Amino acid sequence: MMELVDLEEKGVEGYNMEIEVKKNEDNTSDELVFILKNVETPFVNAIRRAAMMEVPKLAIEDVNIIVNDSAMFNEVLAHRLGLVPLNSDKEALEGLIDENSTVSFTLNKVNDTEETIFVYSKDLTSNDPKIKPVFDTIPLLKLKKGEKVDLEAVAKLGNGRSHAKWMPTVVCAYKQYPDISFVEGKTVSKSVVDSCPRNILSFNEDTKEVSVNNVENCSMCKTCVRTSQNDSNDMKSAINIGYIEDTFIFRIETDGSMSPEEVLLNACDVLNQKSDKFITFFKGG
Ligand code: SF4
Repeated sequence: MMELVDLEEKGVEGYNMEIEVKKNEDNTSDELVFILKNVETPFVNAIRRAAMMEVPKLAIEDVNIIVNDSAMFNEVLAHRLGLVPLNSDKEALEGLIDENSTVSFTLNKVNDTEETIFVYSKDLTSNDPKIKPVFDTIPLLKLKKGEKVDLEAVAKLGNGRSHAKWMPTVVCAYKQYPDISFVEGKTVSKSVVDSCPRNILSFNEDTKEVSVNNVENCSMCKTCVRTSQNDSNDMKSAINIGYIEDTFIFRIETDGSMSPEEVLLNACDVLNQKSDKFITFFKGG
């Protein structure tokens, strides 16, 4: 039978991955930025794809509109309801028995004022107190004096492969770690520093030296390189922009339905289950 070897334990190059969290160390916001070292692009991309496409969350899928006096078409209203982020973290989903479980919402509002009013996400009433819109103030539609809306909606579990409304991430991207270097014996001009749209470079007027402020914020647009190519004499082509092949800056931001840490853990779980299935198959299980 095939034997599996622990490559990390054996110290094989490329398997000693390091992670450094840059933003959201205390797990309190919807955004997380971290650095991954000693990894290959396909590995990072697999995490990105799993986080966007494979992590289950709740979204409104079926809408039964009984009354809609507003100017908004029923189809548009149903689409807007589908995009309202609902609590889908581990705690909220605990009571749901399986992937076919549903949560029902009702929306019943009459404008009995003289003014035009907004109907907000907070006006949706859920049959499960743990599952409700993440934000109260998402505008759904407007009602003029005397107008009414009355509907029932059903939220189901799904994932981003079926529809974007089931994607828990609004940003899920990585870039290779920028590497800015100065050519020995050449002077970087002030015009090169000024050309950077992100203020990554700074110029010391006294020493005439250039330093790098926040390399991780460099977009690798190479505007500085092009400016330097137009300089003359010992200032020409004085700066190089590259990247570190096996180091990545990963940024993930969620719609609030769950934390970015939970999205990543779920994504790793999905990859783990797929790998286990693969291993079981080739072991003849
Ligand atoms: S590559 Fe672009 S962002 Fe990076 S230092 Fe040069 S000009 Fe600035």
